[in-house]
Amino acid sequence: MNKIAEIFTSLDYGPAPESADVALAWLAAHDNTFGHFINGAWTKPGKTFASENPANGKVLAQVTDGTAADVDAAVKAARAAFPKWSALSGYQRGKYLYAIARLIQKHSRLFAVLETMDNGKPIRESRDVDIPLVARHFYHHAGWAQHLEREFPDHVPYGVCGQIIPWNFPLLMLAWKIAPALAAGNTVVLKPAEFTSLTALLFAEICDKAHLPKGVVNIVTGEGDTGAAITGHPDIDKIAFTGSTEVGKIIRRATAGTGKGISLELGGKSPYIVFDDADIDSAIEGLVDAIWFNQGQVCCAGSRLLVQESIEERFLEKLKKRMSTLRVGDPLDKAVDIGALVAPVQVERVRDLVKKGVAEGGQLYEPDIDVPGGGCFLKPTLITNVSTANTVANEEIFGPVLVEMSFRTPEEAVALANNTRYGLAATIWTENVNLALDIAPKLKAGVVWINSTNNFDAAVGFGGYKESGFGREGGREGMAFYLKAKWEKELKPFVAAAAKSGKSANPLDDAGGIDQTAKMYIAGKQARPDSGYSRPVHGPSGALVGEVGDGNRKDIRNAVEAARAALGWATTSAHNRAQILYFLAENLEYRADEFAARLRAQTGEDGAAEVAASVERLFAFAGWADKYDGAVHNPPQRMVATAMVEALGAMAILAPPSRPLLGSIALIAPALAMGNTVVLVPSERSPLSMTDFYQVLETSDVPSGVLNIVTGESKVLAKTLAEHDGIDAIWFAGDAETSAMVEKASAGNVKQTWTSRGLYYDLSDKAKFEGDYFLRRATQVKNVWIPYGA
Ligand code: NDP
Repeated sequence: MNKIAEIFTSLDYGPAPESADVALAWLAAHDNTFGHFINGAWTKPGKTFASENPANGKVLAQVTDGTAADVDAAVKAARAAFPKWSALSGYQRGKYLYAIARLIQKHSRLFAVLETMDNGKPIRESRDVDIPLVARHFYHHAGWAQHLEREFPDHVPYGVCGQIIPWNFPLLMLAWKIAPALAAGNTVVLKPAEFTSLTALLFAEICDKAHLPKGVVNIVTGEGDTGAAITGHPDIDKIAFTGSTEVGKIIRRATAGTGKGISLELGGKSPYIVFDDADIDSAIEGLVDAIWFNQGQVCCAGSRLLVQESIEERFLEKLKKRMSTLRVGDPLDKAVDIGALVAPVQVERVRDLVKKGVAEGGQLYEPDIDVPGGGCFLKPTLITNVSTANTVANEEIFGPVLVEMSFRTPEEAVALANNTRYGLAATIWTENVNLALDIAPKLKAGVVWINSTNNFDAAVGFGGYKESGFGREGGREGMAFYLKAKWEKELKPFVAAAAKSGKSANPLDDAGGIDQTAKMYIAGKQARPDSGYSRPVHGPSGALVGEVGDGNRKDIRNAVEAARAALGWATTSAHNRAQILYFLAENLEYRADEFAARLRAQTGEDGAAEVAASVERLFAFAGWADKYDGAVHNPPQRMVATAMVEALGAMAILAPPSRPLLGSIALIAPALAMGNTVVLVPSERSPLSMTDFYQVLETSDVPSGVLNIVTGESKVLAKTLAEHDGIDAIWFAGDAETSAMVEKASAGNVKQTWTSRGLYYDLSDKAKFEGDYFLRRATQVKNVWIPYGA
């Protein structure tokens, strides 16, 4: 063997440590002890807890455990800063964001080293991924600040935003939250995770250096209780949270009925699908990124490997070989692939889940590689022989643990991929562009990566479907979650016209020849109520004008089943949906007189105007069906990200008490136009217009199950629907108390909600409700990343 060949065989890595000095010096300059950053100044440290380096257990600093009083002081500072900050021009705010981006770049080494020491992630990642993306977010949103007025006319910031972030990407999650919030003109109270507060504190100093006005950004450190004090604070207008689904649900319940805006970016169990025609070596490299990036502590980690059976053996063999070349070690070493997990408790949690996986029949593989002692290190781990019922196939492990299953056909791959309560991300590997683009729309996930993985960019929205939460961060979609329609801040309480008692000496006489109860409409058929009971409907003078079925839990169950069976409505072409809505409008117009008479009987008002407005609204959303669509983003990577606007799924819509026809049409039209199926509960007081409406449905080619109508007591049906796991989103127009109940009950499967909270939404107002207000709430955006360009 010649010398060079010999060197190649014996070649090994030497240590390549990044110096910790810069971060240690910064910590020392603060006496390794921190208070909060409130109103542009440091508070005196209170009761503190230690922030440790998970690679060696050494204490880096003492950080203050925020009390409710600290949170209150921060909220007061943010509130006081809000008027001036939001009154600045977008250009002026943009300049601050730009200055912050520049300062982050200037101090990027300090940020990267501090992040790695505090969190345990390899310096290669904090230096090359986290910190550059942080700067990119501030640059991108500096631009948004300036263009906001043009792009979001008549929108205003929420006010004070409470932001709670996790420990896996401490500074990056801060940037994802603070940059859009400030661009929109909000002020902020942010709590970093207990394990990783240090870069947020360093960021506070950057805000100071950028001369950001006092109180615009406030950082309060602490534990879960501090977070709860933020979510519970009455003077916070919007909560943005990233973290576990469990805490996300707690926050959803805590904010129910408060009117606070809310966006939740929660957990995931993302599939990584490899078809037999994939470029296997690339797919393996992608997988290394998907599951061992940041030790697998990534909400969108490709933690479920699904491999086509025909290549399974070969793929696993190659994967194991690659795993044996991964280097676990000192996170500050530039040649290390896998660093330390965030804390001993996380190591224990991961170990316990792995043990469970093995006890349930999983086969464990760990490569024979060195792992340093003394810190929170774990080997990259693979579990095979797993079935869909196994704990490790369902639970978010949040560690370097990959779980593998095989599939035979593309249909099976999709079924396995979607077999999870989560829906954050998914990856597809195949050399067949047709297959990739056939599978991408079928995956229930907010982000899909084709022949790539873990791509992120400030211009591309990120966020989940199902129990991975709602709301998006990044891009236009992300901006929308920090803004409110101006008029929404000025809504007044809804005052219902006093209902007459409806009692007459002989109600049957009153009914004017009514001999039958209007049926409900489920799965394209008229349906009698399960209870067999009916409810009287009274006119404005109190006279009985009809009867409807008193729907119950069983009727709702049937209606939800029908709505789910009709979900294919979303995949009919937008043109088709438009045609059907036009037809519906036309058929309603044919029967305008009849509907007007029915409206007059129920409300005493001019029914003709309401029918005309309803027809016009159906036309409007028929027109939107093929126009409210997505965008193509050009992130810095050699990729495009197509932002596809998709339906939410099966929606429950509870119409307002007033405007018996338009109240329902104004809500169902946008939902149907966007491809949702609907369970509608019409106005409780005046439901007859919508029970008549099924005759129009029957003549209008609306596929069965797309719109189901259940009459009954709104409050009772709202509860059943809000708790139902088959419902993906719920809209409730009615009183404040029921709105709060709906929001609380929706937490079970993290439904998207819209409620009117007892406020008067004048649904006849075309300027407000004929456009994107409900379209946006009836849809979610899926960003599909596709390799593109040279
Ligand atoms: P959490 O969801 O508990 O933490 C996220 C943030 O919420 C932290 O700042 C936390 O504070 C705060 N918080 C905790 N409880 C409350 C509350 N009741 N009200 C308001 N804020 C609260 O995640 P953990 O850090 O506890 O991690 C547990 C598991 O969650 C992980 O093992 C992982 O599986 C998953 N996880 C998922 C993430 C994701 O992005 N999908 C991110 C982080 C964790 P503090 O840290 O001080 O407790």
